[in-house]
Amino acid sequence: MIIFGTRSVTSTPERGEFFCPNCRSAQTFKLKRVRNFFTLYFIPLIPLQKLGEYVHCEGCQGDFVVDVLNFDPNMVTDRAHEAFATALRRISASVLSKTQATGRDQIAQAVAVYRYHANDGIDEDELRDSLAQVNSHEPLANHVAGMDGNLTDPAKEIIIRLAYETGLIAGDLSEDLYQQIAEMAMALGMTPAHFRGVIAGD
Ligand SMILES: [Zn+2]
Repeated sequence: MIIFGTRSVTSTPERGEFFCPNCRSAQTFKLKRVRNFFTLYFIPLIPLQKLGEYVHCEGCQGDFVVDVLNFDPNMVTDRAHEAFATALRRISASVLSKTQATGRDQIAQAVAVYRYHANDGIDEDELRDSLAQVNSHEPLANHVAGMDGNLTDPAKEIIIRLAYETGLIAGDLSEDLYQQIAEMAMALGMTPAHFRGVIAGD
């Protein structure tokens, strides 16, 4: 008697590196292809229709749609970096306007603080432009809304140090400004102890 039938077989036609959205890092993947085979005596012989493909991450063992291979982490990084730089400028300008430290020397000092902490430069005219755009009554925490998940701890610390040191340009920090910086740290997902450590780190 000849025994024949069909069976689905999973093969790995391709492997490589990809950016795993679950691991949030580069990982090796296996492209898995599931195909029906015509079998004879239970041995797959003739490939029939393709049932599907998926990407398997060897880091977290997660399975993803094949589209995940088109995901470009550099684009995300660029966007996150841009959002970070924008937030830094707004925070710098916002602290200056809250402390009314908008004189020529004070802006020059704020630029120096900014350049020290941020990865990109800013000049005094750019900071004055930002100053013209911020509302001094807007809470500092608004400038980091939604950024928590996209920032590393060092990036969060830069934001806090920048706000703190820019605030010091006008002298001791007021209770209100200290509170607003603390609230910004909370919005960034920092613990109170982490926040105090960053503030004390000078
Ligand atoms: Zn993974």
